Amino acid sequence: MKKSVRKAVIAGNWKMNNARPQTKALIEELKPLVKDAACDVVVCVPFTNLETAVELCKGSNIKVGAQNCHWAKSGAFTAEISADMLTEMGVEYVIIGHSERRQYFGETNVTVNQRVRAALDAGLKVILCVGELLEEREQGITEEICGLQTKIALAGVSKDELKNIIIAYEPVWAIGTGKTATADQADEVNGYIRSVVEKLYGHEAAEGLTIQYGGSMNAGNCDELLAKEHVDGGLIGGASLKAKDFSVIVAAASK
Ligand code: PEP
Repeated sequence: MKKSVRKAVIAGNWKMNNARPQTKALIEELKPLVKDAACDVVVCVPFTNLETAVELCKGSNIKVGAQNCHWAKSGAFTAEISADMLTEMGVEYVIIGHSERRQYFGETNVTVNQRVRAALDAGLKVILCVGELLEEREQGITEEICGLQTKIALAGVSKDELKNIIIAYEPVWAIGTGKTATADQADEVNGYIRSVVEKLYGHEAAEGLTIQYGGSMNAGNCDELLAKEHVDGGLIGGASLKAKDFSVIVAAASK
């Protein structure tokens, strides 16, 4: 299977930005700009804006995602949100294992795996984030780190369920820093991740898997990154907060 037949997905990670008025304004501005997209378009908004976003995106080609979910179905987990709560609201995607969750909130490979499991069980599509720290790249262990994160996160995930997984390769040193991985670096690691998935699930499953790049992707550098064989879209932070910039990335992925 060639890149041209894999589904490109451009997903915005709004992080902890935009209250309800800004959410409404940004989605309304975005809708006409991305209506002809040939890729999938997703906005991952804060929990408190999910209902608003789902309502506003009805009838459009924009899908709504959350930025995390808990692994349990319900219970004594103060402040957490279950995967079922998301699907019940009409949410279709969820980001799991973002480096900011790993870095600031004690997320581990094991809890990432538990959250992936719960999200799949609830019928969500998962955007699974993996990526190395700067020290790890400098030590030459990028592949080991990304391979390990991928394998642990996918433990217990069947070949059939892999259809609901997107992997986002996000080098931690490139997130929110303005330092983008070069297109060749992104392609190389995405290709490596695909080879890890191939060993687990076989050639066809690996070739069909959407693997995004994320890390300071913007309107200026998206063309080069998205042209690479193994880069099937992007997870976009900062640039997803500006409708024009985000739509330029969507257009680049639609080529
Ligand atoms: C992200 O948060 O997933 C991300 C890639 O952020 P940024 O585009 O701002 O680097």
